[in-house]
Amino acid sequence: LPTEFEQAIPVMNKIREAGFEAYFVGGCVRDLLLGTPIHDIDIATNAFPQEIKGIFPRTIDVGIEHGTVLVLYHQNKYEITTFRTESGYQDFRRPDEVVFVRKLADDLKRRDFTINALAMTTEGQMIDLFGGQADLQRKIIRAVGEPQERFHEDALRMMRAVRFASQLGFSIEEQTLAAIKDHHALLHHISVERIQIEFIKLMSESKRSIGLTPFLECGLYESCPGFSNHLTGLTKLMTLPETEIKKEAVIWTIIAYFLNLKENEVNRFLRAWKLSNQLIKTVGTILPAYHYRLHDFWTPLTVYPLSREEVIMVEEMLALTNQTGRLSEALACYDGLTIHSLKDLSISGADILASTKKKPGPWVGELLEEVEEKVILKDLPNDSQRLMQYVSERGDSK
Ligand code: ATP
Ligand code: MG
Repeated sequence: LPTEFEQAIPVMNKIREAGFEAYFVGGCVRDLLLGTPIHDIDIATNAFPQEIKGIFPRTIDVGIEHGTVLVLYHQNKYEITTFRTESGYQDFRRPDEVVFVRKLADDLKRRDFTINALAMTTEGQMIDLFGGQADLQRKIIRAVGEPQERFHEDALRMMRAVRFASQLGFSIEEQTLAAIKDHHALLHHISVERIQIEFIKLMSESKRSIGLTPFLECGLYESCPGFSNHLTGLTKLMTLPETEIKKEAVIWTIIAYFLNLKENEVNRFLRAWKLSNQLIKTVGTILPAYHYRLHDFWTPLTVYPLSREEVIMVEEMLALTNQTGRLSEALACYDGLTIHSLKDLSISGADILASTKKKPGPWVGELLEEVEEKVILKDLPNDSQRLMQYVSERGDSK
């Protein structure tokens, strides 16, 4: 067993010594069988949260109402979740109530896909009630139980299906796919934030076109902000090369570009997706820079408004969209800048004001910008004496 699992065994033994069951479950078992890196170890148990807290001295209540307790053990953290079932689902999203149960089988039954419904003992024995191992081998995403019912219970599962298709490069089993086609409109009931998490995971993976195909063909995109009239633009996302895109700003900028959004539409689009202000700001900077770079190379003046990280993102976008990125040259241009922002300029507006009897006004900012540009263009050195000399000469001539 990989070390992540080995390290968790003493934790599970403690639970068992207290008279309960404990299993590895969900994504970690799936990824172990696939031989891919494990994100986090999830442990399921028939012990109730309070019982887990009685066993371990250091715990954090991360989602105790859902049965999850975070156990801190040596240097590691383990999410330990009580076996549970969910019932209700009045609103196509979260269950009305979580019921803790004592049987593993009941817990596995409520999970989304067969490949995510595997459990494993500390001895490495698999509990596979729905043919998850066979589906892993055949590379198939199949709903546990009746797919129509499962997507009715929780419409987010349809986005999870296409996300796992992209993440694992798997295909979606026929009846599961048919149920997504039938119920795609239920996605309207799911919050944008939760859709966004799955969509970004789908887009960041190298095999994104495997997830994009059912996302588009089943109509899930129609329930996503700003997508419904853009099938043609969205289809272009399929032409991206098979490489991972880990930066969300790059993903959103590429989408805005492929959807051919006008400058004044971009902000509203990104807000509708509930992105952070920081992310929206970055996209607002790199989208015009990317447009510029499609036909021109950087100059000191055009590279100046960007951060180094943003220059890297623009070059990455060029490389992704079949242009030639020229990262090292671009960075050489950026690193060769005399200053990177007004803060780096050796004089300030206050210095300019202090050197004259003139009243404050827009002229100060204008003069400062003029000096800034001359320093960027290396027409003037970034030396306060020389700059103040220039300022006083300009003042005389004004
Ligand atoms: P990864 O963490 O690699 O993205 P994962 O399988 O661990 O994949 P999580 O979202 O962390 O995915 O969920 C953990 C487990 O919880 C899943 O493997 C699945 O068994 C179950 N699960 C998560 N979300 C749902 C859902 N909406 N409906 C049913 N089961 C779910
Ligand atoms: Mg997980």
